[in-house]
Amino acid sequence: MKKGKMIILSGPSGSGKTTISHCLLSKFPELKFSVSCTTRSIRNHEIHGKDYYFLSTNSFISKIEKYQFVEWEEVYPKLFYGTLKNEISKIWKSNQHILFDIDVKGGLNLKKKYPNNSLSIFIMVNSIKILKERLITRCHKNLDKNDINIRINKAKKENNYAKLFDFVLSNIDLYKTKKQAIQIVSNFINEK
Ligand code: 5GP
Repeated sequence: MKKGKMIILSGPSGSGKTTISHCLLSKFPELKFSVSCTTRSIRNHEIHGKDYYFLSTNSFISKIEKYQFVEWEEVYPKLFYGTLKNEISKIWKSNQHILFDIDVKGGLNLKKKYPNNSLSIFIMVNSIKILKERLITRCHKNLDKNDINIRINKAKKENNYAKLFDFVLSNIDLYKTKKQAIQIVSNFINEK
């Protein structure tokens, strides 16, 4: 398979990684978003094939059995997320580099599989109080109290893995974080 590069953005839900991924996609036309499969239900603004491939659990399991995923995780109880091998080859065939917005375990798995041509960035949540506010208000309006608690507990654990990433960005000031991410990605894309 013809190989391009991959940029792996990971971090807890609510860390701001999706905002940063949108910023990078608009800044670098040579980057293409890797659309993952998920079994969670589709949200109002989302489009099948653009945000995710929304699958039934049976169909997801069938893809696991056929070894079609390069990685997959049960990110939340009974909710599966995974990256198709085919998504990666499709993007590289189109001469683009890949941008992943993926959970921490998945990000580390990808880095392990593609150590030489990948850049991994961890978006850090410094304050659980701020994370809670973000989960309740801005990003995830349709989460109930239980969903929020699950995400907060997961975030506390995930922060411990930050040191395993190539770069760690503390998302305190979004403008500054975007600028740092652009610089890091620009260096990576342009290096031979
Ligand atoms: P959400 O349901 O809020 O879109 O995403 C939940 C979490 O799943 C986020 O942390 C997101 O980055 C992660 N995620 C999205 N796609 C994948 C994937 O293909 N594999 C893994 N391991 N995690 C993913």
